[in-house]
Amino acid sequence: MSIVRLLLSCLLFKDTLALSGTFWHITDQHLDPTYKLTDNPELVCASSGKRPATNAGAFGDFVCDSPWHLINSSVYAMKDILPDPDFIVWTGDDTPHVPNEDLGKEAVLEIISNLTHILNQVFPSTKVYSALGNHDYHPKSQFPVGPNQMYDRIAEMWKDWLHPESQNTFKKGGYYTEKLLQRTGFRMLVLNTNLYYDQNKVTENMEDPADQFSWADQVLTEAATNKEKVYIIGHVPPGFFEKKRSKPWFTPKFNKQYLDLIQKHHSVILGQFFGHHHTDSFRMFYDSAGSPVSTMFLSPGVTPWKTTLPGVVDGANNPGIRVFEYDTQTLLVKDVVTYYLNLTYANAAGGRWEKEYRFTESFRVPDASPSSMHKALERIANDRCYLQKYYDFNSVSYDLTECDSDCRVDHVCAAREVIIEASWRLWEDTLKFIIKNIKRAFLIVMFKSRHIW
Ligand SMILES: [Zn+2]
Ligand SMILES: [Zn+2]
Repeated sequence: MSIVRLLLSCLLFKDTLALSGTFWHITDQHLDPTYKLTDNPELVCASSGKRPATNAGAFGDFVCDSPWHLINSSVYAMKDILPDPDFIVWTGDDTPHVPNEDLGKEAVLEIISNLTHILNQVFPSTKVYSALGNHDYHPKSQFPVGPNQMYDRIAEMWKDWLHPESQNTFKKGGYYTEKLLQRTGFRMLVLNTNLYYDQNKVTENMEDPADQFSWADQVLTEAATNKEKVYIIGHVPPGFFEKKRSKPWFTPKFNKQYLDLIQKHHSVILGQFFGHHHTDSFRMFYDSAGSPVSTMFLSPGVTPWKTTLPGVVDGANNPGIRVFEYDTQTLLVKDVVTYYLNLTYANAAGGRWEKEYRFTESFRVPDASPSSMHKALERIANDRCYLQKYYDFNSVSYDLTECDSDCRVDHVCAAREVIIEASWRLWEDTLKFIIKNIKRAFLIVMFKSRHIW
């Protein structure tokens, strides 16, 4: 290679590096302050709900939420792996899976405060964009329209991360928007999608809880006018849980409103980053012509807690944290690198967080743009090797059993289809069919019994 060509390629390489940025995404830490090592496996942690924690160690157990040691280890692993990210995305769920009676407003606030403190302590000069999870309220999931004491107290805890204007919308409904990295042309939209969660009884009969949809529509409309690029973060995602067929999270009308919002504004939205599943997955959004227009990345949780959701078999995961690489000029997501702790090894031989996989390498795509994510999804849908790879990563390399044809349908359909009306209509039709037949059966019985009498 000539000197000129060498210099040229060095310059090009430098240019590529200059355009590349990184950020951390952490979610679902679920600290369980009751976690302790004891001889009685049923008494290790309150979050096991009396399921025996048979492999409990310093870093946790698969039936328990995170001990402090695991959370501490994950935050310091972030510092070791990537000490100076451009920013951190934190999408909530800080408290343990225990009945409301075992927590309380002060207990919830104290846990949020402890997790805020450790992030601030380890990353004192890094901007954190922080969204509320359904477990970050008491009683859990019952987020109201503000003003409200919990919104006020959390806004106070996060005051270093929130501008005065963000404080106002946060106190109204737990949402806000900020310039991304103080740069003109780049924006972060932090949503409180707990307002749309079907477990939230406070907001279920409202049309637009806390005016969040109309506010987001306005922010995104202005973003288009000002030629801004936007990232959206939140906790509860729309669409279905891939580990349980026909299990949506949003109330159907809110799911539709969310989809409409993304379809209307997809040209300014460069990525959506959510949690809540504790699994590693993604959701595709398509336009009316069927072209991929947006991706929602669902990042794995820090807690290894095995879900108690009926119908999910062995729904635990290894603790995961993840780095996104993005183009600092366009906000295009270039790659996703997931790091994890093998909990069994960690308990036996000390905690070592390792790289689990790099998305572009594992799925052989050039980047993590919507079209590349669509291509990866087609590979997962049509090639058993890619499907199995995706499935292993889905539980952060915890469940390495075979993903059979039923499992393939669940995972591929959930990633492709965020609309819930179709299946909702199917349920409605089924219900109507059953009612009609019960009526008919009842009339026949009546008719026959009259005959007998
Ligand atoms: Zn969670
Ligand atoms: Zn959640």
